[in-house]
Amino acid sequence: MKNNSNNFLKRTWAEIHLDRAERNYEILSSLCDNSCTRAACVIKANAYGHGDVQLMRCLEEKGADFFCVSNLDEALRLRKGGCKGDILILGWTAGEYAPILAENNIIQVVLTPEHARELGKSASGKAVRAHIKLDTGMGRIGLLTADPDRCAEEMAEIFAVNGLNVEGVFTHFAVADSFDEDNTAYTNMQKERFFGAVERAAAMGMSFKEVHCLNSAGTLIHYDRRSTLARLGIALYGLKPSEEIALPEGIKPIMELKSEVSYIKPLHKGESVSYGRKFTADREMIAATIPVGYADGYSRLLSGKAEVLINGRRAKSIGRICMDQMIVDVTDIPDVKEGTLVTLFGCDGGETVTPDDLAALYGTIGYEIVCGINRRVPRVYIKNGEITEVDEFV
Ligand SMILES: *Cc1c(COP(=O)(O)O)cnc(C)c1O
Repeated sequence: MKNNSNNFLKRTWAEIHLDRAERNYEILSSLCDNSCTRAACVIKANAYGHGDVQLMRCLEEKGADFFCVSNLDEALRLRKGGCKGDILILGWTAGEYAPILAENNIIQVVLTPEHARELGKSASGKAVRAHIKLDTGMGRIGLLTADPDRCAEEMAEIFAVNGLNVEGVFTHFAVADSFDEDNTAYTNMQKERFFGAVERAAAMGMSFKEVHCLNSAGTLIHYDRRSTLARLGIALYGLKPSEEIALPEGIKPIMELKSEVSYIKPLHKGESVSYGRKFTADREMIAATIPVGYADGYSRLLSGKAEVLINGRRAKSIGRICMDQMIVDVTDIPDVKEGTLVTLFGCDGGETVTPDDLAALYGTIGYEIVCGINRRVPRVYIKNGEITEVDEFV
């Protein structure tokens, strides 16, 4: 629900800094040789939790004209939200939806000749725009390129389908986020298979407007000017594709997760907090309760590990994180009161906690942290310090 008053429930909220999205987009697109590679914005999964329509609008204003999503519903949300650019669905869509794809001018990935025929059969009047997916080593979806003859035949079969307009071909890297020698060799092998298959198809008379293989990691450390698009996801949101990859200067995380202290109390020696009594005070302490929990996407696996920022200082989780609340140790932090601002990730004073930091605490990646922020958490859009929009899903 769009909230025009810019008021929202001050419980737990996610700030989405649109000026950082603009800056990240500018920096990343400038890394590409733009005479050959265009930046495509991957805004699947509600723009990795940031709000797809809001990000699309913000990025279109900066010149973005190609967006990638994971399914038809996500694509239609963008079109209904006013997206003028190209929209590519990266995942499978059943043939029966071909008329909706065509009517809404959405590009569908084609996985097999059979899939192409299904889409072509249902297309009524208008052809469905398509990109062919090649599996060069990700092992997920697409025509297998390990056998180049078979792959070329299948591409020709797809090209021959009536009701389908093949405009592009692409592949996805499995280990582009690594500098490791074996992984670099693997990425190079994927490129060889990919561009080899494209050349072969060209020799057979097939031509493509878009030929693309780069994701964020590929763009940052395996850039290849033969890729006509750079499909930018995680780096656009200001997070690292992997621990090894440093982001270019100036790129900042777009999302910050905030809350307020709801309750504060002394915790006497011997007293415990939360379910399972996993934490017992071994001295006189002060504990603050924060109204955020795993139902908001702040994982229970962070119990006793995560630090939040309060008054520019770090406060550690104590006891188990509950569904809607958690408790932190504020014994050494002055001036904490009910209503004091809490930063779950983001910056406060000189301290920073990033989604990548939280991810590292329980063996996942920053992607999962931002994607996992629940719809219960209002998204507050901010540009140059001013709230421009609030999205509350209640
Ligand atoms: C998600 C996805 C991307 C973006 O990956 P990042 O690592 O977030 O840059 C690119 N291409 C495909 C096919 C994807 O599924």
